[in-house]
This record gives sequence, C-alpha cells and structure tokens, in this order.
Amino acid sequence: MDTRVVKKKLGLKDRYAANTRGLHWETSYQPMDKVFPMDRFEGIVIHDWDKWEDPFRLTMDAYWKYQSEKDRKLYAVIDAFAQNHGDLGVTDARYVNALKLFLQGVTPLEYYAHRGFAHVGRQFSGAGARVAAQMQAVDELRHFQTETHALSHYNKYFNGLHSNNHWFDNLWYCSVPKSFFEDAYSAGPFEFLTAVSFSFEYVLTNLLFVPFMSGAAHNGDLSTVTFGFSAQSDESRHMTLGIECIKFMLEQDPVNVPIVQRWIDKWFWRGYRLLTLVAMMQDYMLPKRVMSWKEAWEMYAEASGGALFADLARYGIRLPKGWADACEGKDHISHQAWSTFYQYGHAAAFHTWLPSADEQAWLAGKYPDSFDQHYRARFAHWQRHAEHQPPQTEAEKDDPAQGRWFNQFLPMLCQVCQVPMLFTEPGDATRICFRQTDWRGQQYHFCSSHCQEIFGDEPEKLSQAWLPVHQIYQGNCYPEDVNPASPGDSPVREMLRYLGINPGEDNGDFDTSRDRANFAKRSQRKATQAK
Ligand code: FE
Ligand code: ZN
Repeated sequence: MDTRVVKKKLGLKDRYAANTRGLHWETSYQPMDKVFPMDRFEGIVIHDWDKWEDPFRLTMDAYWKYQSEKDRKLYAVIDAFAQNHGDLGVTDARYVNALKLFLQGVTPLEYYAHRGFAHVGRQFSGAGARVAAQMQAVDELRHFQTETHALSHYNKYFNGLHSNNHWFDNLWYCSVPKSFFEDAYSAGPFEFLTAVSFSFEYVLTNLLFVPFMSGAAHNGDLSTVTFGFSAQSDESRHMTLGIECIKFMLEQDPVNVPIVQRWIDKWFWRGYRLLTLVAMMQDYMLPKRVMSWKEAWEMYAEASGGALFADLARYGIRLPKGWADACEGKDHISHQAWSTFYQYGHAAAFHTWLPSADEQAWLAGKYPDSFDQHYRARFAHWQRHAEHQPPQTEAEKDDPAQGRWFNQFLPMLCQVCQVPMLFTEPGDATRICFRQTDWRGQQYHFCSSHCQEIFGDEPEKLSQAWLPVHQIYQGNCYPEDVNPASPGDSPVREMLRYLGINPGEDNGDFDTSRDRANFAKRSQRKATQAK
C-alpha cells in the first residue's frame, strides 16, 4: 500500500537494456566458467561483455509482432500464387531447376543456421550476443519454413522436388553446402559467428540473395521474390551481428587478432567455394539473365568487400588469403561448374542443358577474356555428340558422336570444400588445380592451395569428412539388396536408386524432359482458356 509506483518512461536504449541485459545474472551455485564452458576454449579473450552493442535493439515482444505481420503478407501472396497457377508465369521451365538447386542446397542451410544460432545463443556468457543469436535462431527456422512453403507449389507440377531432406544428407553436390555448415556449427561459438555471420552473411550474402531474388523477379517468379523480401529485413539484422561480433573480438584484446584473421581466411575461402553453385546458377540456369557472376563479384565482393577490409585494417586485419585467387576465378568458375553438371546431368536431381547460341553470345560478351578462349569449344563438342553430327575437325576424327554425353565415372572431390576437382590453376585455365597432403598414412586431395592450408590447420577434424564419391565407391550409398562387388554393378544407377531419384524424370537433359513437355502443355491450355 505504501509503495509508491514511479511511472518513469524509459528511453529506447534503457528499455532495451532492461529487457535484455537486465535479465542476465552471474551464477553463484556454480562458477560461470562451468555454466558457459564454450566461449573460452577457442582462445578468444573477452574483458567486458557490456561493450557489446546491439544497433537494432529489438525486444522479443516487438520481434514477434514484426515477424507475424511479415508472415501474414507472405502467405497471402503464396496462396494467390498457387491459386492463379503462378508457376506458368515463369520465363520457361528451365528456370525451375534453379529453384530445385536452391531448395536442395540452400534451404537446408537455413535449418542448420537455426540450430547453430540456438547453440551459440546458449553458449555465450554475454547477454547481448546471446539475445542477438537467439533471435537469429528463430529467424532461420522461419526462413526454412517460408522457403519450403513458397516452393512447395512447384512440387505439384515439376519433378525433382520431392525428397530434398534425404538428398541433402546423401546427394553428392549437396555435401558442398552441408559440409560447409557442419564445419561451422561443430566449431566454437566465436568461429561459428565469424564463419556464418561475418564471412557468409556480411561479406558474401549479397552474392547469394541478390542474384537469386532479382533472378526470380526477372523470370516472373513472384513467390520466390516475396520470401526473398520477407527474409531480407532479417538479413540486415544478421549482417549487423556479423560485423558487430568481428569488431567486438578485435577491440577486446590484441591476442584475438591472429585467431580472427585465420578464421576469416578459412571462411572466406569456404564461402567462396560454396558460391560456385550460385555462379553457375546465375550464368547458366536463369533463362533471363540479370547480371553475370563476374559483374556480381565485381560489385558485391571487389567493391564493397574491398572497402570493408580497408576499414578493418585499423585493427590489423588484412584481406582474406584467397582474395586474389577468388577475384581471378570470376572469369572461370561458372563455366567450369556448369560443364561438370552438364556431364553429370544423369546423376543430379535437376535438369541440365547446353546454352543456346544466343546464350553463348551473351556469355562471350560478359566474359571476353575466357568464354571463347576456354569454354565455347566444350559446348560445341557436346552439341555435336547430342545431335549425332559427324566429326568436324581433324582432332575429332576418331570420336564418333554417340548422343548426349553423360560421364559414367565419378570425380575426385576436394577433402575440404567437397567440390569435384574442376577448378584450374591460378594463372593457367588449361590445367586442373590439384594438391595433395599425406597425413597419418593417408592421402588427402584438394582443389586449391587454400583448401589444402585449411586442412593443414585442422587435419583431425577435416580428415573425417564424409565424401560422397568415396562413400558411393565403398558401397555405402547403395540399396541393401546390392552387391557392389558384382560384375555388372553400376555405382551411378544404384546411387540413384538409393537416393530415390528417378532417372530421366528428376534429371537428364532438359530438352527431352517431362518438365518441359508438361509446362508446354499446361501453358497451351491456359492460353486456350484465356481466349
Ligand atoms: Fe536465413
Ligand atoms: Zn576445395
């Protein structure tokens, strides 16, 4: 009765502090080090967690309101899209293969990110970092759900969208994104944030989301554009967490600088290798192109990344070690990757095709220093095979055209990034880059000096990588009724059966696909109805 209630309105900053830092306490029954055992072992020294700043100052209460509002809008658009057969509005059915790749390789990463942030949200002993990580954990779970819902409409009308979860764990090229994230979330909490929040979300995210989302807009895919926008506002918060974490570590103690630098070197390179799939998607899988991978790299990596690292120089941080090689790769990686997927178009879970004459002209214009010199001839050669044309040059005279070329041999994979050995030497685009390390009596193979160096820093961890091609040849990706030692054994056929990929239906050449035929038929029907 006697207590006087002071009605004092707190400012935004104080209210945020009361809602977040005010909820934090120092443990007394058990020492803090025992309750939070993880944020020390990486060697990062933190003197004062209160120096952690949260520029967004979002409370949980406001967070739920914002997010539910966004979800309501998003699901209204998705419903309308489904009811109006929005998928028939895309440029052509080839486009849907970019969505398949997205759903197979990117959407599961959202779920991994959710788990990773939930984990570090528990492990940091500082309240500011914990709150930011917890909110991001919820965001990422939402991204996984909205992407799955938005793309589920396509599963009604297109092949190759039915078993993404099984594929993510077993399909060879999915191991590239999967191993990236498993390496990150099995690291300590500070390395996880450097990997995901800084190197991926702050430095490289525009290279993933901008091409995909403007690609979707250019190709008439409204549902993808909408989930992209819905995720974008979260993304700016996530990027802030990335840069905040880096600056915080660097400002807290000089011993942190070399540790952070090593992580930046590692995760920039791993992120760059992962983006090979995006580069390929952008240059080859969008029927209507937005910009080339090379242009995107110059805009989002070279220009803005360059400025970022100039800014971080005051802490003693330099450009990531692989920077120059990544910049050189902008002329090559999309062509090298699509050439590989084209050859393995019978072993993937989407369709592949040769770029048309117009598309090759576009590529030659965008890549004046590499396309005609190194890549056009490959496509011409495969075209000749596909069309059963007779040999056209002296060199081809012993090479009868046998139809659409599918490579029956499985490639060697890089132990670290898990991309097949398809990249070339820096400075020489005619030689495959290949590195090898012997460790504890075993040989390990790498696509580049950078992946080799990453392995050298953590061989105990990275020697345990689950490499799909090794697993297939060891018989671990076969259905149970198969004897891998039997003479007629076909690793690719059995692998597809194990994966639940229907040969020729979920994969193979686009030109002869059911996806293409169905899309044409449904478009025709819609046109007739409109008359
Ligand atoms: Fe996300
Ligand atoms: Zn590699």
